[in-house]
Amino acid sequence: MTEEVFINPEQSALVVIDMQKDFCYEDGALFMGEGVEEIILRIRGLIEKAARKKVHLIFTQDWHSLDDEEFEVWGRHCVRDTRGAEIIDELLPFSKEAYVVKKQKYSAFFGTNLDLHLKEKGIKRLIIAGVATNICVLHTAIDASLRGYEIIVPEDCVAALSDYEQEYGLQHIKSVLKGTITSTSTIVF
Ligand code: ZN
Repeated sequence: MTEEVFINPEQSALVVIDMQKDFCYEDGALFMGEGVEEIILRIRGLIEKAARKKVHLIFTQDWHSLDDEEFEVWGRHCVRDTRGAEIIDELLPFSKEAYVVKKQKYSAFFGTNLDLHLKEKGIKRLIIAGVATNICVLHTAIDASLRGYEIIVPEDCVAALSDYEQEYGLQHIKSVLKGTITSTSTIVF
């Protein structure tokens, strides 16, 4: 895990998944726990590091209508145009510079124009950060992999509700999708 991972900045995008108030703040509707508080500053650092090499930046926002069927599983969260659906204050300035994808399902590819956008930009690999490792990060990674993108996940920039969920999300990305699991400090653009 200490080996450096060299990433060509020109064909890469940093995808920051669902860093929204409902998931990241203690008073949020679906707070991910302490793990998410720890990744906020690291994601900020990674964004800054990527920006210096002009790596394309994408933010996703979970974005539901008031009666979304997903609430049967998770309860109400990230209702569109509410405070809980906002990007967290710590990352908001960066999201203003990013391409923002609003998504209704776990995968950022489902029902969005993300794939078309990435192809127009000539992107071939995605560095994926955010929450939750086993839900929207994993489903987005799976959809990206099916579409031929290379996947890199810095494990210190993703979080889940439990250690078990964190582990199986990363394990799936590594062993089934053949993604690269690394850490922020070993990524070199
Ligand atoms: Zn949701």
